[in-house]
This record gives sequence, structure tokens and C-alpha cells, in this order.
Amino acid sequence: MDWSEFEDWGKKIAEWAAEYHQSLRDRPVRPDVAPGTTFAALPACPPETGEAMTDIMTDFHQIVMPGITHWQHPRFFAYFPANAAPPSMLAEFLVTVIAPQCMLWQTSPSATEMEERICDWMRQSIGLPDGFTGAIQDSASSATLAAVLVMRERALNWQGKERGLFGAAPLRIYSSAEVHTSIDRAVWFSGIGQDNLVRIPTTGPTRGMDPAALEAAIVSDKAAGLVPAGIIGCTGGTSNGACDDLNALADIAERHDLYLHIDAAWAGSAMICPEFRTLWAGAERADSIVFNPHKWLGAQFDCSIQFLRNPDSLIKTLAIRPEFLLTHNRDGVTNFSEWSIPLGRRFRALKLWFLLRSYGLEGLRTRLRNHVRWSHALCERLRAESDFEITSEPILSLFTFRYTGATDADAANQRLVDAINEDGRIYLTQTLFEGQKVIRFQAGQFDCTEEDINMAFEVITQIARDMP
Ligand SMILES: *Cc1c(COP(=O)(O)O)cnc(C)c1O
Repeated sequence: MDWSEFEDWGKKIAEWAAEYHQSLRDRPVRPDVAPGTTFAALPACPPETGEAMTDIMTDFHQIVMPGITHWQHPRFFAYFPANAAPPSMLAEFLVTVIAPQCMLWQTSPSATEMEERICDWMRQSIGLPDGFTGAIQDSASSATLAAVLVMRERALNWQGKERGLFGAAPLRIYSSAEVHTSIDRAVWFSGIGQDNLVRIPTTGPTRGMDPAALEAAIVSDKAAGLVPAGIIGCTGGTSNGACDDLNALADIAERHDLYLHIDAAWAGSAMICPEFRTLWAGAERADSIVFNPHKWLGAQFDCSIQFLRNPDSLIKTLAIRPEFLLTHNRDGVTNFSEWSIPLGRRFRALKLWFLLRSYGLEGLRTRLRNHVRWSHALCERLRAESDFEITSEPILSLFTFRYTGATDADAANQRLVDAINEDGRIYLTQTLFEGQKVIRFQAGQFDCTEEDINMAFEVITQIARDMP
């Protein structure tokens, strides 16, 4: 492809992108394709000779697009959002064009220094005190794995990397059952093992860990010769938004010298609004906090910030410095590959810079506040219907509910979710709450309006009542 052809296609794709986004409401959120359709539509062997871009694009529209779930659809109420605000898309296009690999300061000084500056902007935006520094990781899963590796190394006196875990007493990590599965995987891959992830019972309206039970578990583990290594708290659990009492966790972490990591992958974005910060009071006492601007805030996936009270322990755990990676004559620079598990790093700060400048914090706050308000309003409308019940109260823009108008409620609620998603006007997912099948609702898509939420009410109630 020559550069004039590139320019041509670049313009065409930008035109298509604007049209696509403006016509999203007319498409079903989730595609109606049978498994294997896309695979079968693709030739079994790669082409030996080059093909025209027109043909490639035709196939993109005919083969790829019918099998896409439209995450940017304003009526995407499933999982959590993965927003991509237009300025962040443009920034990603620029990054794709420059295609820098930003593992070290010298492999793109402006990428490193922008990452430092933007992480500090985000720190201020979510109300964390001075002294927290941040790095942009690919995902919350990576950040949590990095935090658990730090817990492991601290608890093993920084010997784990050399000696492995052989012969060491079992390390123990504490969390509630409300945390995301990325915590389980971090515990598997760090060699600590699922059996040493201690699930603390939850209590109270936000289903946080019971602090007394947490402390009792730590004390009894110590007495049994096990080695407590860290606590993982959550603000905004994935299933129904559970929030731990972070001050209580921090008190216990301090008393027992444990590393405290907080997973706020989804809810962290809401902390740009001061009124929501009560949900994570005490976060400033954590050692490590992860939140994903690629969820609610509007930065294109992937973009997950890990904030650290003191990055030295992370760097001590992850850094490796062979001669070929050294930068000579540049004292005091940050080499972000020492802060993350992969060596290679994308230039992720640019899209946050574009996003924050383009909307301003006030513009982003307005969007998030609307989502929370509209979601609460939908919750009240469903509560008022005699054949629906609210199973967990809204935490930010997330709540769960259940249809009670049919016998065998678990099966009926799953059938309802499936029927709603096949209808396609909205997209929702189910979860378990206290052993019952319930339906999750979260609002957070960037272009979502109050009318979209009203349509959710119509679709949910209509389809439930029409079910055989
Ligand atoms: C989405 C989510 C994660 C996982 O995030 P990734 O960036 O996809 O790894 C972890 N924890 C919580 C609470 C989440 O909502």
C-alpha cells in the first residue's frame, strides 16, 4: 500500500466510523449469529498474493461486522462499559500511526513523561493525596497480579524470585467472595495457590468484608505457622458492586504489616465526583489501587491505572536490568517497563490526555452523574412493579433485580435475560445473588440518554410479561 492509498482509506474509514456511531441505536446490541459463522466465512488458507483494499473492506463489512457485539451501543447495559470517547479514538489512531514501543524512557521520552503527568492528573481527579504515583497497565488483571507478586516478595523477604516458593511456609491473601476472578488468577499465577486465598465473610448493606472476621483469620493463620502476605479490598465488585470498608482494612493491614491492594476497576472512574468518594473512604491508606479508565471514564480499551503509595516495592519485584536495556547518562528517568509485567508497553497516556482535555473533568462528571441518576430512577420504576423485586440496591449505576411473576424463578430469570438479548434493543447479563439468579443492570455507555433507560424499562417489563 502506498501512502496516498493509505490517506484515501484513512478518510473513508473515518467517515464510516462517524456513520457507524450515529446509527448504533438501529442495530441490535448483541449480534444474531450462530457459533462458527465467522470462522466458516473465512478462507481456510492465507492468500499467496496481495489483495485490493476494496475487497478487504468489503469482507470486513460482510464477514466481520455481523458478528460484532456493539459495546459502544447506548443501550449496552451488560457487564461494565468499555467506553471509547471519540477524542480517545483519535488519540489511538495517532498512536497506531506512530507505533512506538514505550518500554523505556529513551524509547519515547514524551510517552514516559506524559504517562507520569497524566497519572498525576488522574490522581488529583479521583482525590488521592500527593505522594501516590501511577503507571498505566494493560488491564486490572495485570495490575492485581503485580500487586500480589509484591505481597509475595515482601512476605518472603524478597527471596521468592530467586528461590521460588519451595520450602516456604504457605503465604495467605485475604479478600471477600465479592472480588473479581482476576484476584483468583493472580493468586494462582503467583504460586500462592487458590487454597491460600482466604475468603472473609461479608456484612452490611455494601457487602464488605467483616473486619473482625478478617483479623481473626489473620491471627489464627499466624498461630498455625502460615504467613499472611496481603489483603485485597474492593470498591465496586463486579457482580453487584460490593464495597469493603477500606479504613477498617487499612487499620488491620497496618497492625499486621500487610500490603493492601484495592480493586476499583469499575468504580474508580466515579471518584472524579467528590460525592461518591465516601464509597472508598480510606483508599488513600492503601499501598496499591487499580482503576480502569477504559471502563466508565471513556478512554479506549486498554487503559488501567495502578496507583502506588511507594513504587519502590513494585520496582524491586518486577525490574530486571540486563545491559541491553540500560540507558546510560540519563539519571533519574523512569523506565515504566520496570513497573509492569510485560516488557513492551503501548503509549496509553495519549488517549487520556485527549479525553481529559476534550471534555474537562466537569464534562465527564456530568455524564457519570447522569448514569447514576437514571439508573436509580429505573430501579425505582422496577421496584414499583408488583412482579419485579430489587435484589441489591444501586451502588453507583449498578443494581440487580428479579422477575417474580413466574414459577421456577431462577429458570424464568435466565429465560428473561436470553429473550431480552435476542430481542436486541438492550443488552443485559445475569449474576447470582445470595444463591439466586438475578439480573444485573448498569448504565455507563458514553452516549446513553434518559430515553435509552426508559426503553430498557419498556423492554424488560414487556418481554417478561410476554414470556410463555
Ligand atoms: C473489569 C474488572 C476487572 C478486570 O479488569 P481487566 O482490566 O479486564 O483485567 C477486575 N476487577 C473488577 C472489579 C472489574 O470490574
